[in-house]
Amino acid sequence: MAGLYIILMGVQGAGKGVQAAFIRDHYGIPHVSTGDLFRAMKTRTDPLAQQIQEIMRSGKLVSDEVTNEVVRERLEQDDASGGVILDGYPRSPGQAAWLEQYLQSRGEKLTTVLLLDLDLYQAFRRAFGRVTSISGESYNIYTASDAIDWQYVDDPDKQYPPRLEATLKATGEKLIRRPDDASAHAIIKRIDTYLETTQPLIEYFEAKGLVKRVDASKDIEAVSREIEQVIDGLRK
Ligand code: AMP
Repeated sequence: MAGLYIILMGVQGAGKGVQAAFIRDHYGIPHVSTGDLFRAMKTRTDPLAQQIQEIMRSGKLVSDEVTNEVVRERLEQDDASGGVILDGYPRSPGQAAWLEQYLQSRGEKLTTVLLLDLDLYQAFRRAFGRVTSISGESYNIYTASDAIDWQYVDDPDKQYPPRLEATLKATGEKLIRRPDDASAHAIIKRIDTYLETTQPLIEYFEAKGLVKRVDASKDIEAVSREIEQVIDGLRK
């Protein structure tokens, strides 16, 4: 059977991480995130690895040439012989074109570009409202009002904007909000960056009829079922 080569796209909060894990477990193909591959090079001391760390720190993109080479090496490993889920790659039309050519040279092709579709206001609320317990359980102030109590507390000196305080009703445990989730501006900036980089890619793949949209506003299981239907439908 032909391999499964799936590009997974979605704004932060669309559930890309959990759905990548679902696809990996259900179809037995590895989850390949170029961000993770680059981060894993942190301990390497060779000039290329050092240069990549520097680029990542600056928030810029690694060159297409270097990125494609890292992807090629990963796709040639044994566990990727049946395909992969690509996450964070391609990030440019140049990378997309290279990937298609590379797969073609191996007698393979892209199966689909799965777009986890989420309304941007929902995406914002999923990040802005997220609070986490010590054990790593995640809740959202907008949707988990039965499980958590929350309020905004004014800074006594009015030097800072009000702070969100959330507690777990059942135990009284204080829930933690990640600093980057507390900044509306930072969240909007991340969403904007996502739109800017993915829009040209979506258009590129749309023109080839490769994009499948999945409604990511539903709960995790429902989204997984929809993904399964899409992939199984394409495999027939
Ligand atoms: P991520 O975890 O996907 O946000 O990636 C972290 C960083 O790795 C990015 O800010 C880029 O510097 C680099 N990176 C990851 N994927 C790519 C890619 N496909 N092309 C270029 N740079 C990338």
